[in-house]
Amino acid sequence: MSSATKVGHLIHGELVTTGSRSQPIYNPATGEATKQVMLADAETMEAAIASAHAAFPAWRNTPALKRAQVMGRLKVLLEQNAEQICQLITDEHGKVLNDAQGELQRGIENVEYASYAPELLKGEHSKNVGPSIDSWSEFQPLGVTAGITPFNFPAMVPLWMWPMAVACGNTFILKPSERDPSSTLLIAQLALQAGLPKGVLNVVNGDKVAVDAILTDPRIQAVSFVGSTPIAEYIYSTGCAHGKRVQALGGAKNHSVVMPDADINNAVSALMGAAFGSCGERCMAIPLVVAVGDATADALIAGLKTEIAKMKVGPGTDISNDMGPLITKPHFDKVSDYVAIGVAEGADLVVDGRGLKVAGHEQGYFLGACLFDNVKPGMRIYQEEIFGPVLGIVRVTSLEAAMALINAHEYGNGTCIFTRDGEAARYFSDHIQVGMVGINVALPVPVAYHSFGGWKRSLFGDLHAYGPDAVRFYTKRKTITQRWPSAGVREGTTFSFPTNR
Ligand code: NAD
Repeated sequence: MSSATKVGHLIHGELVTTGSRSQPIYNPATGEATKQVMLADAETMEAAIASAHAAFPAWRNTPALKRAQVMGRLKVLLEQNAEQICQLITDEHGKVLNDAQGELQRGIENVEYASYAPELLKGEHSKNVGPSIDSWSEFQPLGVTAGITPFNFPAMVPLWMWPMAVACGNTFILKPSERDPSSTLLIAQLALQAGLPKGVLNVVNGDKVAVDAILTDPRIQAVSFVGSTPIAEYIYSTGCAHGKRVQALGGAKNHSVVMPDADINNAVSALMGAAFGSCGERCMAIPLVVAVGDATADALIAGLKTEIAKMKVGPGTDISNDMGPLITKPHFDKVSDYVAIGVAEGADLVVDGRGLKVAGHEQGYFLGACLFDNVKPGMRIYQEEIFGPVLGIVRVTSLEAAMALINAHEYGNGTCIFTRDGEAARYFSDHIQVGMVGINVALPVPVAYHSFGGWKRSLFGDLHAYGPDAVRFYTKRKTITQRWPSAGVREGTTFSFPTNR
């Protein structure tokens, strides 16, 4: 690919490179600009929204089973084209190829769930709610819906959104991350191949200009967002102020509690993957471990140091690597700065991954795993989302103290506890103020037939992403009450409120 290769938009079934603004896409393993992504202007946004608006009436009236069958065919096409999709993810995001395969697989599971739409959209029916009166509720599509997605799961997070939205009868405008949009665009083209009519799914690449058009256009009924908390809050407040239904999933700072009775070797293995997998660029990553008791902390640190020493860091195209590069140079600088901040704040840097050089990839954005001990709640490295391979150990003396820390934190996306004590685990999962909880499971990402979402400032809105909540988010309830007058049942005039007499 030459840096002159343009990544454009998919509008009304056609790939277009309209607009005058663009920015480079980098290969984070080499630091090279490989392509240019077009940034949608007002005219491009109008074309996309008009296309989705025009496609809605026919798609709404397409039988749910036919809509679902498109999802079934898409699932097969995604499996057949997995290699190419994952290659694009690794080229632009940097994650190791088998990690990209994992992300795609979890995305495909959402497509499969969307293919159950006819079952999921079955309404509720009550016969004889009054004399010869039947009543039922049905779930109707909203119209044009939209999604704005982050860089860290360029295939999976868009698949959390649009398959269920369109299976429910909506049309959709997707605005992927401008940092790694190519896999998203390829998947949208496969959806056309699977039989999705033109205009049902439009993809616009872009920045704030595109996002603001989505948030303010009256033809768009609902917006799903996944990204950082400041932008999630902006999306939620602006979208709601413009009368839209909005779900905005934000950032995270997930804590793992390790109890003194835990299987430490198991906890160390699980925490290595949860802290450093995908270079820590996951909203369900574990950047903080709360160790209950000094002996627990000391054993964890010994185990983590040993495992970190064995880690292989390098380009994601080599699947023998455990960790690839960070997404961009500015993000690399930001994460490196946090390591320096942690040192200045007085935390003990036990393993310093800065200064790592990967032979043949000297310009890549590689940072080795970093491990801090004695992280304290007042520190910025405790409070703020770093989104990199930096793990901090916090020492406490009891489960209650660990839970008080987690409950006081502004984020509440995921958490987990490592223990052999069922009572402690049950108490933890019942009382912790976090949306997704693991018990001896470090990354408790719900499967496609449950829903995904955090609490507190990790989610703005009511309904979680994908799964059963997505059916509710992308539909509105209509309740119909019906009587067919007959000779035996004639209504007399009544001015009192109707009751079942
Ligand atoms: P980001 O907030 O920078 O960008 C997300 C989307 O918002 C992108 O499409 C981007 O183009 C757009 N955007 C960015 N700045 C904007 C602005 N000023 N106005 C309007 N739109 C804007 O997030 P990111 O860096 O791409 O992704 C990482 C973040 O996403 C992390 O905070 C991570 O925790 C979070 N995340 C959360 C979840 C979750 O489910 N809660 C999942 C994945 C990622």
